[in-house]
Amino acid sequence: MKNSRLAINEIFYSIQGEGLYAGLPMWFVRLTGCPLRCVWCDTPQAYDGGKVYSLEEIGRELSHSSSRPGWVSITGGEPLAQKGSTDLMEFLLQNGYRILLETSGSITLEEVPLGVVISMDIKIPSSGSWNEEQIRNIDYLKKGDYVKIVYTSPEDFFWLRDHDSLFIPLLREKGLLPVFLQYSQRLIPPREATDFVLERTGDYRFGVQLHKFFFEDPGKTDGKE
Ligand code: SF4
Repeated sequence: MKNSRLAINEIFYSIQGEGLYAGLPMWFVRLTGCPLRCVWCDTPQAYDGGKVYSLEEIGRELSHSSSRPGWVSITGGEPLAQKGSTDLMEFLLQNGYRILLETSGSITLEEVPLGVVISMDIKIPSSGSWNEEQIRNIDYLKKGDYVKIVYTSPEDFFWLRDHDSLFIPLLREKGLLPVFLQYSQRLIPPREATDFVLERTGDYRFGVQLHKFFFEDPGKTDGKE
């Protein structure tokens, strides 16, 4: 086993609130640190601090679950901001866990082990975190991975109509559509959201965030990921 050590913000067991695996029970390992500062970030507590764990110590925390090794979400912050995150994913895969990596897309996915399911965000400009790496990273996505976009206002749909040709054709080519469109507020989403999903059949699907309404999730406050 590699002797990587990682700064961890929190480890908890809950129900996945969004994306392809919404509703599934999972362990969440939230790594400290993120190079981005999305305007609607819901986990600023993960920007720094936390406790340092060895891989073995993380494995011990997860084995407190009474069930068989199940799913583990490796999340953040931005989990790939720590080099040891790849070692953690390999370690957990070797121990029979299924891994969902929740990433902002701002750091290369080149080293992510093949057995990991990737949930990658595409940050549109209103997030304050648009970057080119997320477009390059589409190259590393594979069948079974998926993409999410957080939107916050009707203006985001003007941007998507004008600019999503930057990534939709690449995702279509790889069989990775539809994209999950996630609303970042607790309010009723703007009508433009449903109109847009209906107008672009097959490219987008309306994403839910179950944790905001039903589940206790110590890491979530009022935003996205
Ligand atoms: S939302 Fe995610 S990617 Fe954006 S600043 Fe917060 S932790 Fe980083």
